[in-house]
Amino acid sequence: MAQIKVLGGLNEIGGNKILLEDEGTKIFLDFGMSFGQAGKFFSEFLQPRKCNGIGDFLEMGLLPDLKGLYRRDYLKHMGRKPEDIDFQGVILSHAHADHAAYVHHLRQDIPIHCSKPTYCILKALNDTSRTGFTELTEMRTTFETYTNTKGTKSRKTTRTHPEIVKPRKFKIFDFGKKFKVDSIEIIPFNVDHSLPGATGFVIHTSSGTIVYTGDFRFHGRRGEKTEEFMQACTDEDVDKLIIEGTRIDEKRFRTEKDVEKEVGNYCSDKGLTACNWPVRDTDRMMSFVNAAKDIGKKLAISLKQAYLVELLKDCKDADVPSLDDDLIELYASRKSWGLIGRKCDYRILTQDYDKWEKPYLDQTICYKDVSDNQGKYMFFCTNFDLQELIDIKPVKGSVYIKSVCEPFDMEMELDWERVKHWLDHFALDVRRTHVSGHASGPQLKDFVEIVNPRNIIPVHTEHADIWRKWFGKKTQTTRIKSK
Ligand SMILES: [Zn+2]
Repeated sequence: MAQIKVLGGLNEIGGNKILLEDEGTKIFLDFGMSFGQAGKFFSEFLQPRKCNGIGDFLEMGLLPDLKGLYRRDYLKHMGRKPEDIDFQGVILSHAHADHAAYVHHLRQDIPIHCSKPTYCILKALNDTSRTGFTELTEMRTTFETYTNTKGTKSRKTTRTHPEIVKPRKFKIFDFGKKFKVDSIEIIPFNVDHSLPGATGFVIHTSSGTIVYTGDFRFHGRRGEKTEEFMQACTDEDVDKLIIEGTRIDEKRFRTEKDVEKEVGNYCSDKGLTACNWPVRDTDRMMSFVNAAKDIGKKLAISLKQAYLVELLKDCKDADVPSLDDDLIELYASRKSWGLIGRKCDYRILTQDYDKWEKPYLDQTICYKDVSDNQGKYMFFCTNFDLQELIDIKPVKGSVYIKSVCEPFDMEMELDWERVKHWLDHFALDVRRTHVSGHASGPQLKDFVEIVNPRNIIPVHTEHADIWRKWFGKKTQTTRIKSK
């Protein structure tokens, strides 16, 4: 008898960790971070301590305390006895942090099944983040020592012991092609969401069929993929539908094409056009690319964005521009000594940058190029790039196109207040254009009616009441505690 335990993602937006157990096989559907629970205790400046392994995460209810799931180096360091592996796989619906961030804490030998674009996005994060908990595609064994040539103890580092970096066991699936984890049969389908590679699943267990939607919408660049997934579900006798309900209380309906049009209209004629979009949302980036093409501007993207685009370029399910396109410029920020844009020894200059950034440096532009030709550029400016404005010095008539979601909690509200101060300081006129990554209430209702499952488990929603109102006893919304 298949059993589902929702250990994260019930009555909250994100943090999905859904345990499916069937005939002794245990798999997780997603293993994400709960922004709500994490935000209660931690912030950018008050992070869980790595020195306590998973201890801080367990104490604050961020991770469920299960045996045979977590990385051995952390458990050993915490003084916990060695555990045998007890989970046969983790299936990721997509690469957003609230679905995948806690992969960092998993044992390295647990197979992780995901689409190729999902893998590429996680790899980009893994390779380009210096700190934090981002060992998503490879694990760096921590807390180990060795006896050095002087006969004393030293800590193992990646420099002295490159073998402490071990790739995780990723298994990339193809959309529409079934795969098995022991007796559980899984068919992945591409769905439309605010990043490439998002997946919905039809899962055949010993006691019936389960559908897990992940996060999805119909109004992006691949809405027809979500339609195809929905159609495939109608061919199944669905026992349980695990469905996201982020926007169940909203009716608004705009499309990615509307965003593309608005971006074109909002650009500055003679001044700088600073643009902020979610770095992983390459479909949104395409809206900016297409708008730039239409109005004859160049799009200056960050090296992080370029790194991700390069990884995604061979994925047939992701739509990204070629970095060789004349329209795209690679922008190198000032870092470390901040030598870019100065006449100096090239080798000394390149030392400002990380290993993954160096191959781009002979083809980058910098603040000087943008500053001298402000009307020519759309400049990708996330909240981490705002200091570049100090060097670019935006001229009168410059604008800032905000194409990310509106703040939905206190911390984001404060972040936006701070960003606003920057934009006010440089007299940038703020223009907004955005569409959500999630289906609207009426679309969710249609989805359920068309798929017609026996039971519904709403996740990724704060409105279980609406689900109950619409679907009554079919709706299962009891919280299962993780501790
Ligand atoms: Zn998502």
